[in-house]
Amino acid sequence: MSVPVFRFAPSPNGRLHLGHARSALLNADFAARFSGRLLLRIEDIDLARCRPAYVAGILEDLTWLGLRWEEPVRRQSEHFDLYRAAAATLKAEGLLYPCFCSRKALAEAVARREEETCAPWPRDPDGAPAYPGTCKGLDAAEAERRIAAGEPHALRIDMEAALKRAGGALFYERFDRDGNAERVEAQPARWGDAVIVRKDIPTSYHLSVVVDDALQEVSHVVRGKDLEAATDLHVLLQRLLGLPTPLYHHHDLILDPMGDKLAKSRGSGALADLRARGVSAEAVRLLVL
Ligand code: GLU
Repeated sequence: MSVPVFRFAPSPNGRLHLGHARSALLNADFAARFSGRLLLRIEDIDLARCRPAYVAGILEDLTWLGLRWEEPVRRQSEHFDLYRAAAATLKAEGLLYPCFCSRKALAEAVARREEETCAPWPRDPDGAPAYPGTCKGLDAAEAERRIAAGEPHALRIDMEAALKRAGGALFYERFDRDGNAERVEAQPARWGDAVIVRKDIPTSYHLSVVVDDALQEVSHVVRGKDLEAATDLHVLLQRLLGLPTPLYHHHDLILDPMGDKLAKSRGSGALADLRARGVSAEAVRLLVL
């Protein structure tokens, strides 16, 4: 049997908090228990929000926690060409289409629909309004002309076409702390025509995570429950790109005393602050595991 491969994949857009410590230490524990490998991947595709100082902070925090990972550390910002190629494959198969809508235009279109129908417009699992399909029917030549003229655009998945291409139900395996697996049916349709290539960068979280997990031969994905619903899209993309589907474990999130998710942007539960206050790595470990 091949050696299981785990990865911790933070985005360097803030300092790591207790929730990241849980993800990182769980990955390390699973890797030790299953005699697996542990990789670290820096998911720095968002060039506007990621900072080199945060990368340094991540390495410092993880070292303090006692984590050891294999070198070299993969940095997604160095692999945009690969994500571009994956998107081109999907586009050539007619599964992605350009969307020129601004956030404002989208919000207005959704508000108009809600007014017309007197009913709330459907939301995706992250709470964002489902795409109302504004650019879906655009004439292909017209779209190409606008692209050639340099008009900013995202690429959205044509969910209907993608599901047809996927050819039936999609499943993945969820594993628990004891390693027992359970089959789960993915529900990608609830994401609607999701953005697969963002306007500002040549990829998205969904596309690059799927490409990299396959390329790095990740067999077990351990991450927070906030990313559980996104697995539906990941499994769909894996099927469309002919990539293997890893096993998944989505752990509980650590909430602040108000019951909200810890957020890097608010600096809540930052490991660096705990360390500065004299909290030991062992205490963090006991708290999060
Ligand atoms: N980069 C993502 C984050 O920091 C995690 C991606 C993943 O584990 O799939 O939230």
